[in-house]
Formats: sequence, C-alpha cells, structure tokens
Amino acid sequence: MTRRGRFAPTPSGLFHMGNAFSALAAWLQMRQIGGQLLLRIEDIDKPRSRPAFAEQQMQDLRWLGLDWDEGPDIGGPHAPYEQSKREDLYEKALNELVKKELLYPCFCSRAELASIGSAPHGLSSEGGAYPGFCSQLTETEQAVRRISKEPALRFRMPHRQWTFCDAFAGEHDFSGKALGDFVVKRADGMFSYQLAVVVDDAAMGITDVLRGRDLLDSTPRQLALYEALGLTAPSFAHVPLIGDASGERLSKRDKSLTLASLREDGASPQRLIGLIGCLAGWLDRAEPVTAHELLPHFTTDVTKDRMLAITPDMLDWVRGKSICDD
Ligand code: GLU
Repeated sequence: MTRRGRFAPTPSGLFHMGNAFSALAAWLQMRQIGGQLLLRIEDIDKPRSRPAFAEQQMQDLRWLGLDWDEGPDIGGPHAPYEQSKREDLYEKALNELVKKELLYPCFCSRAELASIGSAPHGLSSEGGAYPGFCSQLTETEQAVRRISKEPALRFRMPHRQWTFCDAFAGEHDFSGKALGDFVVKRADGMFSYQLAVVVDDAAMGITDVLRGRDLLDSTPRQLALYEALGLTAPSFAHVPLIGDASGERLSKRDKSLTLASLREDGASPQRLIGLIGCLAGWLDRAEPVTAHELLPHFTTDVTKDRMLAITPDMLDWVRGKSICDD
C-alpha cells in the first residue's frame, strides 16, 4: 500500500518557522519512503481564513523547495482540497454520529465556559475539559432551551484510556474522561476542526499524519471519531514546536519570524532548512542544505522535547548575518 501524508495549514496568517518545520518533516517523511504527499487548505473557519494567506503559504512551501502530489493548485483524485468546499462530507459524518446517538446539543455560551475554566487556552488544542453541563438534559429541557438559543453539538467522548504510539513524541495515554466531550459543530453552524480533519484524512486515504506537537491531545479525540465512524485511523507523528529563547511558542502574530520577513532580511531556504535540521537532530551542526540533501538524514528517532528554542544568534545565521559555520 502506498503511504500517504499531508500538510494541512490553516490560512489565517503567515507561516513562521514552526510551520516550516512541520511542512519540511511531512515532506521528508513521505519523500524518504517514496510515499505521496498532499496539500489541504484547512479554511473551514471562514472568518479567520483568507485566500491571500493560502496563496502566500503555498509560495513559502515552494520557496523552501517542497512539492506535493495533490493539492488545490494542481488538483488530484480527492479534490476539492479546500475544507470550505467539503462541507457536505462533514454533514454526512455528523448525521451518522447523530444516528448513533453519540452527540448532544450544548447550550453553554463561551462566557459560561470561560467562567469555569473550560475556555480554549494556549497549550491544549481544545481548552479544558467540558464539565458536561448539557450532557444529561432531558428532551423537554433541550426543547425549552432551543427556543432562545441555537445549540452546538458535542461528541460524547468515551470514558476510557486512549493509547497510541507517536513516531516523534513516543507512547501516550490519555483519559477520555479528562479530555471531556468536544464540539463537532458550533452553534453558528461551523464544523469543528476535529470532525473535518478526520473526515478528510480518511476520505483522502492518509496513512501518516505528521503535524505540530500542539495537536497531540487532539489525537485521542480524533481516534474516538475514527472509531465512532467505523474508519481506519492513520499513524501519528507530532514534531516539536519552535519557541523563542524565552520558551514562548512562536505564533502567527510574531511578524519578525515569519518566513516572509526572514526572506526579506536575507534568509535563504538552505539556511532555514539547515537550522531546522540541526534543531531536530537530523544534522550535527547547522549548515546550508536543501530539503533533498536532508532526505538521507531524516528520522523520527530524535528529540522527544515538546519545544525547541531558537536564539537570536541562530536567526542571525539564518539571515546570513554571521560568517561562522559557513
Ligand atoms: N490546520 C491545522 C493547523 O494549521 C493542522 C491540522 C492537522 O495537521 O491536523 O494548525
């Protein structure tokens, strides 16, 4: 069976080094084994997504020397490759979950969830566990609440252990109860990332999911959805995040560390790839290399760290501002 990986960016901002790391690793993993790689634009959150960012992200990937076998720009057997055009598939999966009685309407507002510490926070992909306020409402109680409020739909996360072996992050064991029930369709009608990504990865024949470590705790939730929908789950690999010298994760808001601004400051793709290769442990020292040159060095058997820090010196080197190590 041909192994298939994907890179699935959300077009809500410019790429930074962390995005370059995940994209490069997904490319290396598939190219090293002769697998196929596809690019999927995760623009399901329409107000946050911009076609201009998707365009820029594709240009950044090309600048890095990465290519893909299927994607929004080149088409392929699983088109469309934009989530905003795949909502009928998510609706179908949602109906299946409804039929299996695995969902319930949730009327809690964001403010209510925030007040009990269940609002999304930085280090988890879903925020704190939902305490289950709406999980036991009777049909009459639901009907009364529906008069004044459109509900979100929550998936009943099975209360058992979810264990998987992550190619980068190692063995992981999550408690379904501690993760809590999660939203699959928001009150405003938007399908959740968790549902869309499972439906798409399954429909597109993805065998290997490689992405950033911030999504590690999404994996047990997605495993539960694969099981509920009777789909085969892929294997998972979560690469470390890239942080600044103070240990803060880079975000799309850090303008100076976007690929676009590094490029403007004189960075070459070879230096950027060399630095990532060195941080990941694929190279002994940072030296300018192309993605192709890094291929023989790629392995998942490297650092288990959750975050790798880049220092100002390293960035100067990427920008070509220092002569050492050349
Ligand atoms: N769209 C997600 C992001 O940009 C990645 C989703 C995934 O790889 O599963 O963070």
